[in-house]
Amino acid sequence: MSTQSENRSANERKIENAATFKVYPYRRMVQFGFLLLTIWIGIEFIVWVKQLESGLSPTLSRPPGVEVFLPLSALISLKYWLLTGVFNLIHPSGLVIFMIVLATGVLLKKGFCSWVCPFGLLSEYLAKIHIVLFDRIRKIPGWLDYPLRSLKYLLLLFFGGSILFGMNVLRLEQFINSPYNKVADIKMLQFFANMSDVTLWTLVILVLLSILIPYFWCRYLCPYGALLGMISWFSPLKIHRNAESCIDCDKCTNVCPAGIQVHKANAVFSDECNACLECVDACPVKDTLYLSVTKKQWKLSRKAYLFILIGLFVLGTAMAKISGFWQNNISTKEYQYYIKRMNEPVYNHNRGAVPDYEGKSDQSRK
Ligand code: SF4
Ligand code: SF4
Repeated sequence: MSTQSENRSANERKIENAATFKVYPYRRMVQFGFLLLTIWIGIEFIVWVKQLESGLSPTLSRPPGVEVFLPLSALISLKYWLLTGVFNLIHPSGLVIFMIVLATGVLLKKGFCSWVCPFGLLSEYLAKIHIVLFDRIRKIPGWLDYPLRSLKYLLLLFFGGSILFGMNVLRLEQFINSPYNKVADIKMLQFFANMSDVTLWTLVILVLLSILIPYFWCRYLCPYGALLGMISWFSPLKIHRNAESCIDCDKCTNVCPAGIQVHKANAVFSDECNACLECVDACPVKDTLYLSVTKKQWKLSRKAYLFILIGLFVLGTAMAKISGFWQNNISTKEYQYYIKRMNEPVYNHNRGAVPDYEGKSDQSRK
């Protein structure tokens, strides 16, 4: 009897001593910071394209950060760089950002999804609408959840596989230097600015599905999330649970947006864990749930995680700027030439093929 009460009071002491620092508000700040940055880049890019379209000489410079929306072009550039040693300067910042994101996956698991990605932030707020409508998160049954989760890996295989296994150096080089790739960012803007009914309804359906089934896009469809999930599986950093001090309160599991049974795991290996650290914030017992490389060694505090994540983006971007791998090498004169011909076949994607293009036709525009 006395041993039981001693244990209880020991646990109560631990609970009282539980860290008061919560990383959640900082994660939100980082998410909104990246969202504002994305909006700023978007506005700057729209103004720049509008000035080009109206025949004016742009008063703004093209924001290189817009290349974050060209992950397939970045993957092609990465493969080309690895095979040839040439870091192409058509969309250099796209490749730099892509490599920073891959580095976060290796070092910090899927932190990009829960700390940086604006679609991750949007999904969280759509999940809040779900809770308002249905009182709590209603999970879909496992028999449906597992096959749906494989969809994002199939999409990754479809897009990534054709680049990794289907493009040799010549095809990579042709694509990188093609007129289509050079204006892919402008094409993307025009695609959303002149949205077809099909695209509009697809977006509306995705939003509705994300309200009905929380994190629908992230959990089932996002190929970027699939790539990071695979990489993060090999990340040495994991959420660890100390079963000896755990009081089985299930708070960690209840707050996990990925639906992971954290209270039963000794270490979270799931590819769905997006390192949001909500479970660590929720755990009431000190040193029971934590990020670390091994069960007892190489613990990483939530503050350190925050600084390393931001540091990777700041340092990576700064190094790229200093070393000249940030701004692309396409001149305003070239862009002025391209913008008048955007509807010609050579500026269309054509499933990666480059019709009527032999790598010569636009050389004279420089
Ligand atoms: S296990 Fe923890 S860190 Fe991973 S998704 Fe769930 S709550 Fe977030
Ligand atoms: S939050 Fe999870 S790990 Fe922490 S005490 Fe409760 S069940 Fe255990």
